Amino acid sequence: MKPLPAIKALHAIRTQIKRKNFWLLGLIAALATAIIFLLFGINADMSELAKDNAYYNARLSEQVIQASKIATIQIDFGAQIQEWKDVLLRGHDTGLYQKHWAQFEQNEAAVHQQLSALHRDLLAHETQPAAEQTSQLTKAQLLTHYQLGLQKLERQSVASLHLSDQVAVLIDAHQLIGNIYREALLRHPLSASSNNIFLIDQEVRGVDRWLSGQLVTLREQSYTNHTQFIAQAQREYLLDTQKLHEKIQRGIVEIALILIANLVLLISRLSASAQQLASLSRQSEASIFELAYSDGLTGLPNRRLFTDKLDAAIALSGNTSNYGGLIFLDLDNFKTLNDTKGHAQGDLLLVEVAQRLKHCVRASDTVARLGGDEFVVVLGSLSSDEKTAGEQADSIAEKISLALAQPYTLANHAHHGSASIGVALFNRGEISSEEVLKRADTAMYQAKRAGRNTVCFYDQQAQTSYESRSQIEQSLHTALGKQQFVLHYQIQVDHQQNAIGAEALLRWQHPDLGLLYPSEFIALAEGNDLIIPIGGWVLETACTQLKKWEQMERTRDLVLSVNISAVQLRKSQQVRQHSHNSTSKLRKPSLVEQVQTVLERSQINPARLKLEITESLALHDLDHVAETLLHLKSLGVSIALDDFGTGHSSLSHLKRIPLDQIKIDQSFVQEIVSDSYDQAIVKSMVDMAHSMNIQVIAEGVETVAQQDALIAQGCVFFQGNLFGAAIPVAEFEQRLMTNA
Ligand code: C2E
Ligand code: CA
Ligand code: CA
Repeated sequence: MKPLPAIKALHAIRTQIKRKNFWLLGLIAALATAIIFLLFGINADMSELAKDNAYYNARLSEQVIQASKIATIQIDFGAQIQEWKDVLLRGHDTGLYQKHWAQFEQNEAAVHQQLSALHRDLLAHETQPAAEQTSQLTKAQLLTHYQLGLQKLERQSVASLHLSDQVAVLIDAHQLIGNIYREALLRHPLSASSNNIFLIDQEVRGVDRWLSGQLVTLREQSYTNHTQFIAQAQREYLLDTQKLHEKIQRGIVEIALILIANLVLLISRLSASAQQLASLSRQSEASIFELAYSDGLTGLPNRRLFTDKLDAAIALSGNTSNYGGLIFLDLDNFKTLNDTKGHAQGDLLLVEVAQRLKHCVRASDTVARLGGDEFVVVLGSLSSDEKTAGEQADSIAEKISLALAQPYTLANHAHHGSASIGVALFNRGEISSEEVLKRADTAMYQAKRAGRNTVCFYDQQAQTSYESRSQIEQSLHTALGKQQFVLHYQIQVDHQQNAIGAEALLRWQHPDLGLLYPSEFIALAEGNDLIIPIGGWVLETACTQLKKWEQMERTRDLVLSVNISAVQLRKSQQVRQHSHNSTSKLRKPSLVEQVQTVLERSQINPARLKLEITESLALHDLDHVAETLLHLKSLGVSIALDDFGTGHSSLSHLKRIPLDQIKIDQSFVQEIVSDSYDQAIVKSMVDMAHSMNIQVIAEGVETVAQQDALIAQGCVFFQGNLFGAAIPVAEFEQRLMTNA
């Protein structure tokens, strides 16, 4: 079951925090700040609202007070008017009259004071100048025409006036009443007629009626105002509350927006890092794929991927009836390069070879490295005609062969290489990929046997020899112990056919496969270091032979050449480097020690022993080789440089090596009769060697013409089938005797 997305997101967030993603902390801080500011805002609005509320409440209570004040005044008025009536109706008592007069003046002052205070209050609240003007106008009218006041008062409606104006009217009315009363009292002091009293009473009653009506209106209006005000206050309050609500909502929306924006940011960040993770895992998948399916050094497909491709190609050939092809190639002398120049150089060569191979084939063809110096090329759809398909595959193989034979520059060092190439065809999808590979490998092996740097096609005969090869590898380990090795000797002569020496050539008497030549097992022996003990055996056998030859006149002066493998020399250097600090008795003997031991044991004349090292070997690690060879020379043995001319060096390069002899490689000898270029090369080799006091011998001389051509260039020592192939010692000795 898959985890919930939310849990996944939480996981992702936690990972971000673990990764110290400060942007996330910043985001949280931003959110918190936004919320705090919003809360501050709401709080301010609330307190503002509370302030407003208090203000409304204060105004409300003021209104109530005013209303109650008006009510009190009304009561006071009513009471006073009642008194006036009493005084007027009771009439004639002078003492009572005076008493009431004093009381009247007092009451009048009190009511007037109340009215004036109320008026001031109201004016303070009602600031409209228009209202003020109206009030003043009304007041002026009333004041100047107080005589006609009643008339006017009766017509005047206070409902339209402001409360303060109404109170002002009341004040005027109050004064009017006072004046009327005073006039009446003056006009009828103590003895006024009942008619007069009646008239005054009539007037006072009129004022009373009007006044009562006014007061009721006033009070009602005060209350109406009051309720209106409350309603308005509530409306405004509600409005404010609504505003606040809106404000809060706005704030919440703002926070929500910030949240959403941050969430979007977070999500995009998370998805970005998820993508990053995904691409990382894709990358690691890709690198796992690469690890699994490609060769780390060259980047080419490895054996596994190659097998897939080959399977696919075979299947395709079954579907289309077109032929497919497999090219199997192995670099020539790669081991020597590795052993002498080091693995780094070897690696450089492999990378370069991979590049060249890719350039030789179509994109649809697969170039792969099987390991070591073995490469394969799977050729896709070739022709459906076998012959044409063969020609197509051959032309590609030749192209490859040519490309790989071009000079290399490996970290500023020149290198010359070639490859042995085997080709196998397949069609109709009827054979397995293992079988196709085996066939191409067998063909490649054929190419190696044919002298390297060639292309061979698979045939059944080669197959048999392939099968024997793996058998060879098995039995090589026990060959020495089972004494299956033997040395054959090939004679070396001067221009007068006199025997000057011999080369010891190794043979393996295989119990099942018969006599095997070095090309069939030396490389194998070098590959697993068996060459060290085998080389030791060769040295020992050769010296034993020399010891025997000392006894015979015909063989006493012969110099015997022994081939030294590159591995023997390289291992020897390694051992020597180690032995400076090491006292281990288990270490393998160095070549110098090996030779020294053998010389001591056999008690031969060291001058009779010659060690052959190949040119390509001598060239690499010149210092070490020179040092080792000097050591060997100091033992009294001589040194020959084998296969000279194939290593593309000039003798001047080899000045530091103490050489006694160079062996011109048989490739120069083969064409020397017809090829003037080879003649010129041989001449310059001979001249240079002689100038350095080095003897020159030509190998692989098969014809008299070759011998003559060599003599013409100044070479007077020979080895080759013309004088005798490599043969067992008994035969060799026999020949010497009969030729004598
Ligand atoms: P190499 O040192 O160049 O030996 C000369 C090779 O040329 C020998 O091949 C020899 O049989 C062959 N040969 C001689 N005369 C002629 C000729 O006229 N025509 C032709 N076509 N070939 C001729 P072989 O015996 O098969 O040895 C091959 C290589 O194996 C040798 O080449 C040498 O590098 C190596 N080898 C032989 N014996 C030993 C050994 O005891 N130790 C080591 N490390 N390598 C050995
Ligand atoms: Ca040799
Ligand atoms: Ca040689």
